Order: sequence, then structure tokens, then C-alpha cells
Amino acid sequence: MMILKNLVADAIYQQSGYKAPVYSGAIKMDANENPFRLEEPLKRKLMEDLKKVELNRYPEAGNPELRARLAKYYGVDQDRVMLGNGSDELIQILCLTMKGKISGVVAPFPTFVMYKIIAVNAGQKVVEVPLDENFDLDLDAMLDKVSADFPSLIFLSYPNSPTGNLFDRDKIETLIRKAPGLVIVDEAYGAFSGQTLLTLTKKYDNLLILKTLSKLGMASIRLGFLLGHPEIVEQLNKVRLPYNVNALSQLTANFFLDNIDEFDRQVDDIVHRREELFAGLKKIAGITPFPSQANFIYFSCNFDSDRIYANLAAQGIMVKNLNVPPRMTNCMRVTVGNHQENETFLKALQRVVSEQGA
Ligand SMILES: *Cc1c(COP(=O)(O)O)cnc(C)c1O
Repeated sequence: MMILKNLVADAIYQQSGYKAPVYSGAIKMDANENPFRLEEPLKRKLMEDLKKVELNRYPEAGNPELRARLAKYYGVDQDRVMLGNGSDELIQILCLTMKGKISGVVAPFPTFVMYKIIAVNAGQKVVEVPLDENFDLDLDAMLDKVSADFPSLIFLSYPNSPTGNLFDRDKIETLIRKAPGLVIVDEAYGAFSGQTLLTLTKKYDNLLILKTLSKLGMASIRLGFLLGHPEIVEQLNKVRLPYNVNALSQLTANFFLDNIDEFDRQVDDIVHRREELFAGLKKIAGITPFPSQANFIYFSCNFDSDRIYANLAAQGIMVKNLNVPPRMTNCMRVTVGNHQENETFLKALQRVVSEQGA
């Protein structure tokens, strides 16, 4: 199939492709999901509701009911809300739409890998700006890139993945003021930090906030949403596929909102467990965990993290091995699990590390 090389965009042909790992029966602490399953009574209630979905019909296009509820929840007008099949889809729509007289994407490094992958696949040029030694934005370097490249999109994860910290708010605000295009503040982990920049959308038309249910207990339904200026939403809607959020997901997202108190309690629990996990990691010699405002902890090892990863995986414990030199040499990211999972992980890591150190 030599011709494929001529058919496929160079930037796509050269990639190895993002492969989401598949495993069953493992302790999953690699993808920042919520460790809690839905309790039986709630699950039964959801199953009852799902029976009402007319599977032969297209879902409500543009999702007005769900949009209205989310708008009310966040205290904004409905025309400021747009839903996506996961926030990944909204990132894709942004990258496909914002290619006018100015284009290009600026993002820090390290950050959420999908910004770059999606942007490159959408034909955008991507510039990555290294974070400073505290994992905060290097504002001068960011501003240099902004004035040199004139990007249409700047992506900031708040808190950042994989490092877990919140960037300095004043630096973000300066960037928003100096940006020639849009600044997207991705609050996928916002609930775990208790912080949001949503109120700034009233002050700055070029600021968009991205959110998702994926890290809050609903990763399976793929529901993300964007909050921002109606004129931007109007343009993005031209690129959005008409029935992008399916009926089962719409209904389940409404169920999520009906039971938001239960999910809020889980967030509180995860935040509490995060501190336990952090304390446990700190006690292991040769492991340096970094403070986190998210539902995961980034840590570096004085050992070969590839071996640690393989050793944990052999025991059915999945974490994220980042190990990208030089910035992330021997670095890993672990999702906060339930109490049992955290204990199992810490014991296993302690054992692996003492074997390696010996
Ligand atoms: C997980 C994640 C997303 C993707 O969310 P989906 O709604 O599942 O597509 C977006 N941004 C960041 C920073 C994430 O970690």
C-alpha cells in the first residue's frame, strides 16, 4: 500500500498513533477515572430511566434540555454552552474551526497529550513551551511564542496533567489579555481543586472553559462541555456534527445532575484519599511525589521507571509511566484510587522499590 504515504497527511503518517491500553481485572490507576462504581439503587434507577429512550429515533439535536440544565448549574446563558462527545471532541472542533487568517496552537509542556495530537491531525501547527522548574507557566517564554507565532488557540489544563498543579492565575490572565486568539482553560480536574476561572469568561470574550464528566464518575458516556462567548459557540456549532451526543449519554448526564450530591461526595472522598496517597508515597525512599490539586499524583523515581511500571503491571496494578527524557525522566502518574487500591499500590511500590534498590 505504498500509495497511502501519498494520500495521508505527512503529519499523520509519521505518527505511531495513540493507543489506549486494554486490560481486565486490573487495579486501574492509570487513566484518572473515578474509582467508585454507582451504588445498586442508583444503578437500578438509571436502568429504569434508560428504558424510556426511543432507540429508533435520533437524539435531541444540539441537546437543548441538557444544555439548559448545565447552563443553570453554572449560572450562564444557554447560548454560552456547547456539548461534545467528550471534551476531546470539543478540542477537535476548536482545532478544525479556528484556522483563519491566524492559526496555530500553543500549549505548555508537559501537559495533556491530546492537545498536540488533535491539533496536528486537524492540520494545525503546534508550539510547545516548557513549564518552569515549579511546573508553572513560563510567562515570558509563552508571551514570546504568542507574539512570534500568533496562535489562534492556547490550551491550558487547570489543574495541569500530568503534573497536578494549578498555574498561577495572574499569569493566565496576562496570557488571556495578550493572546491574539482564544485561550482554552481545560478544567477536566477542576472539581478536585475547588478552583475555576469561569467567572473570568464574563470579563474576557476570548476565554473558553472546558469541562467533562469523565473524571467525575462518567467516563463511559463521553460527555464534555464548553462554556464561553455565544458568538464563538455559534461558529463552533457549524463544525459540530448534528447528533454528536447520543441519547443514552444525554439521559445519563441528566441522571448525573439529578444525583450531583452523591458525585460531589465522591470528589470530597477522592480529595481526602489523595492526601493519604501523597503521604504514603512520601514515605517510600527514592520516590518524590509532587503536590496535586487533581485526582492523581505525579512522582519521580530514583530508579528505572520502566521496570517499576512492568513490575506493577505484572501484579495487575496499572499506573501511567511517563519517562520522557529529559523533563520527565523516570516520572510516573498514579490516579487516586479507593482506600484498598491505594494501600495495595503503595505496598506493591514499596516492595518493587526495595528490590530495585537492593
Ligand atoms: C481526561 C482529559 C480530557 C478528556 O476528557 P474527555 O471528556 O474524556 O474527552 C480533557 N482534558 C484533560 C486535561 C484531561 O485530562
